[in-house]
Order: sequence, then C-alpha cells, then structure tokens
Amino acid sequence: MKQGNLFVISAPSGAGKSTILKKLLTRVPNLAFSVSHTTRAARPGESNGREYHFVDRPTFTGMCGERAFLEWAEVHGNLYGTSRAAIEAQLAQGFDVFLDIDVQGARQLRDGGHPGAIFLFIAPPSWTELEKRLRGRGTDPEETVQLRLGNARREMEDAGRYDYLVINDRLEEAVEILRAVIIAERCKGRRNPDGQPIDLAALGLAAQ
Ligand code: ADP
Ligand code: 5GP
Repeated sequence: MKQGNLFVISAPSGAGKSTILKKLLTRVPNLAFSVSHTTRAARPGESNGREYHFVDRPTFTGMCGERAFLEWAEVHGNLYGTSRAAIEAQLAQGFDVFLDIDVQGARQLRDGGHPGAIFLFIAPPSWTELEKRLRGRGTDPEETVQLRLGNARREMEDAGRYDYLVINDRLEEAVEILRAVIIAERCKGRRNPDGQPIDLAALGLAAQ
C-alpha cells in the first residue's frame, strides 16, 4: 500500500473552502478530511467529531503538552490543532488527506513539519464577495464577521507561498480545478486517478 498525499488547504474565512471540500469528498475516492480539535463553540448544525472535535482550553493545552498536534495555532481568538496520530493513520492506509488549516499552521508544516505536503490556497474573487459570503453564511455574529474580514487581508499575503492558487468564483469550476490537482498529484506518485497504486508488473508492462 502506497502512502497517500497530504494536502494542506488554506483560505480567508468565507472564501468557500469547506463548501469545496464537502463536494470533493463526494466526487473523489480515497480522500479523507482531517477533523481538527478546536476550542471554538460549535455553530448551529455542527456536531462533535464531524466538523471538529470541540474541546475546552485546558484539554487543548494538555494535548499540546503531549505533542499530540502535528501543528496548532490561535486563529480568530480560538485554538485549532491537527491530531498527529489521526493523520498518520489515514496516510498509511493510502488515503489522500486534506488539512483545512490557517496560514500559520501551513507555515509550520512548510517549514519542516511534513516534506512532500502539497499546499493549496483558495481566494475569493473580490473583497466585496468575501464580505457577502461571510455575512450570507449567517453563522457568525457581526463582531466575528468583522474580526475575520480584518484577518483576511493578512492571510491573503501568504497566497504566493502555496503550490496552487485557486479563485473560488464559480463553485463548480473551483471544485473541478481541485479535483484535477488531486488526480495529477496521484499520477505523479505512480497511482491511478482513483488513488490505487499502478502495478506495471501486474499489467505485464514492467521493463525486463
Ligand atoms: P470557509 O470554509 O472558507 O470559511 P464556507 O465554505 O463556509 O467558507 O463558505 C462561505 C459561504 O459562501 C457559504 O454560505 C457558502 O455556501 C458560500 N459559497 C461558497 N462558495 C461559493 C461560490 N463559489 N459562490 C457563491 N457562494 C459560495
Ligand atoms: P472556522 O472557525 O471557520 O471553522 O475556521 C477558522 C479557521 O481555522 C480557518 O482558517 C481554518 O482553516 C482554521 N483551522 C481549522 N482547523 C485548523 C487546525 O487544525 N489548525 C490550524 N492551524 N487552523 C485550523
């Protein structure tokens, strides 16, 4: 079994990252989404263990002390972290794993955490549209919307450091671009588009 690829995806809040990832999971086989731990309160409709593992600050900082996180960061006033054990198990099973993490977490992985990870950045088509989407989502109070819009300007500064940059203007187009990237990276790793390893010998195609 070949180890899967690790995809790191970041975007300013409201750019549409979660929406794109949900669609990708239904369209691309052998893809897994890492469920982070966070101290943020669950939004209406979110459930523990599905979008996030919702924990309190003492639990989170205890896990930091045990080095349970591959990376972690404080984002918009809450703590978020990626469980090291969960990711390594999914990669070893041959899944391509998506980490939906902020620019600080991505920097930690780029600067030594995980060689071979593939970095993707999703940007909105404009500031106006980003604001509209954040408000339209209707899940956050106004002060949270303002905080996230303020942070978005700083987050956009990191866009050039990612391997791929995708503008999420038309949703369907953005999803298809990401699907193409996943498939291309699989072929680069001598795997089929469905993620299964290519066995040239079994096909009778191995060099003699
Ligand atoms: P993020 O995970 O990046 O914070 P979401 O996926 O929650 O963002 O998307 C924010 C809002 O924008 C949601 O209401 C979503 O339905 C909407 N949205 C996402 N992509 C698009 C798009 N391409 N066009 C219009 N609305 C979109
Ligand atoms: P939200 O509260 O909207 O779900 O997420 C806020 C931000 O936290 C997003 O930019 C998201 O990518 C980021 N985030 C979610 N999980 C993690 C994580 O495990 N680590 C880091 N560094 N950021 C995360």
